[in-house]
Amino acid sequence: MKCDEIKILLAGFLDDELTPQQRKAVEEHIAQCENCSFELDEMRKIRDVLHKMSVPDMPDTFWRTYWRGIYNRIERGFGWILISIGAIILGTYGAYILIADFFFDPTISILVRIGIAVSILGTIVLLVSLIRERIFALKHERYKEVER
Ligand SMILES: [Zn+2]
Repeated sequence: MKCDEIKILLAGFLDDELTPQQRKAVEEHIAQCENCSFELDEMRKIRDVLHKMSVPDMPDTFWRTYWRGIYNRIERGFGWILISIGAIILGTYGAYILIADFFFDPTISILVRIGIAVSILGTIVLLVSLIRERIFALKHERYKEVER
C-alpha cells in the first residue's frame, strides 16, 4: 500500500475500526515507513491531549453539582421541619395564654371556650401533619437519590 492510502486508514486504526486485513496492512507499513509511523504518533498524541482535556474534569464537576443538589434539598427539608417545630412551640404558647386568659374566666360562655379549644386542637393536628409530611418527603427524596 502507498503512504496516501495508509494515511487515510490511520484514524480508523487508532479508533480500532479497521478490518483485520486493513489493520495488518497499516501495521506492516508503519514498521518500515518512518513518515507514516511519525504521523500515527502525532495523531495519538493529539487524541491523548483531547482525552485529558475533556475526561478528568467532567466527573469531578458533575459530582460536585450532584451532591450540592442533594444537600440543598435535605437542607430545605430540614428548614421546613425547624419552622414547623417553631410554629408548634408558638402555637402551644399561644394556647397556654388563651387557656390562662379565657378558659378560666367565668364570664365567657362554655360554648365559646369549647369553640376555641377545638380550633387550637385543629391547629396542632395540622402542624403535626405538616411535620410528618416534611419528614416523609425528606426520607423519600433521600431514598430516590440512592435508587438512581
Ligand atoms: Zn508511509
